[in-house]
Amino acid sequence: MAQGCPPPPSYNESVKGCPNPPSRRNSYGAPSGPSRALSQLPASSSKLNLGEDPVHMTCPYCHQVIVSVTSPEIGCFAYALSASLCLIGCWPCAFLPCCISDLLDVTHTCPKCKRFLDTFKRGGL
Ligand SMILES: [Zn+2]
Repeated sequence: MAQGCPPPPSYNESVKGCPNPPSRRNSYGAPSGPSRALSQLPASSSKLNLGEDPVHMTCPYCHQVIVSVTSPEIGCFAYALSASLCLIGCWPCAFLPCCISDLLDVTHTCPKCKRFLDTFKRGGL
């Protein structure tokens, strides 16, 4: 005699109660849409490919039309020459490459905002 027990709900009944997940297909992080920044700043340094002479250009920092200010700087090329002179025994002359402006790197700076623009490297070093 199992009369005290209430009849269990039919299987269909219980399945119906299961919350059917509503279609949550709203794409959450789908990276779509034209959100690519097209106007990127020019690479600030080492991409200007400036020569050893002052260059008429637009400063990437202050966006003014400028003529870059050049200043000599002892670079890898001068150091390499100095090292070579030392190696071949001309160490008293090792300082000479650092004094010859044609052997020095050239640093370009902006005359308006005084920021470093680029360095012209001798000998591709
Ligand atoms: Zn500038």
